Amino acid sequence: MADKKKVAAKIISLLEKKHPDVSLVLNFSSPLELLVATILAAQCTDKRVNDVSRTLFKKYKKAEDYKRAKINVLEKDVSSISFFRNKAGNIKNCCKVIVEKYNGNVPSDIDELTSLPGIGRKTANIVLGNAFGQPAIAVDTHVQRVSTRLGLATSKNPDNIEKELCEVVPREKWTKTCHLFQAHGRMTCTAKKPSCPICVVYDLCEWKDKIRK
Ligand code: SF4
Repeated sequence: MADKKKVAAKIISLLEKKHPDVSLVLNFSSPLELLVATILAAQCTDKRVNDVSRTLFKKYKKAEDYKRAKINVLEKDVSSISFFRNKAGNIKNCCKVIVEKYNGNVPSDIDELTSLPGIGRKTANIVLGNAFGQPAIAVDTHVQRVSTRLGLATSKNPDNIEKELCEVVPREKWTKTCHLFQAHGRMTCTAKKPSCPICVVYDLCEWKDKIRK
């Protein structure tokens, strides 16, 4: 485990040098905006979500606004997003609980967040890490692929990958590491044809199928 921690620290340091300005791609200015944007972002590009949220966040400012909205109107407002009907329903149901149970404020506790309708650990951790500044590891498809290829996690289950990463990544780097793995996964360690020969963490990568230099 000590060795894995050292490897993780080296990987993070190299990726920090490669991506010095990395941050969350989704635009938001409050925990509620980030919660809504993250719900919309499932199986959709962050760019499309940012395009939609620019208008959406001007119209819906409080959880109460989503709660009161007619579902067909909210659906129309997010209709360019994949699975917009399900997502509009989730946003509305979430906001109903936020208004009725949390006085209109998005909770800042993992158990409370994951008790909201349709909210899993990934979404909850994105909100905790980026809107509340609490160290949190959100395992999306990029974090999952990059961390398993690098040998920092072995599970196929995102919740277990989160636990494995929490063991080897320094707590203060949890949120940043997600951003770094997402950037690395998008630009270099892509699902198909990763650019291994130019990868800055090539020498530390344990993936048996990595493309040889
Ligand atoms: S060497 Fe290849 S598989 Fe390993 S992290 Fe780099 S890009 Fe990904």
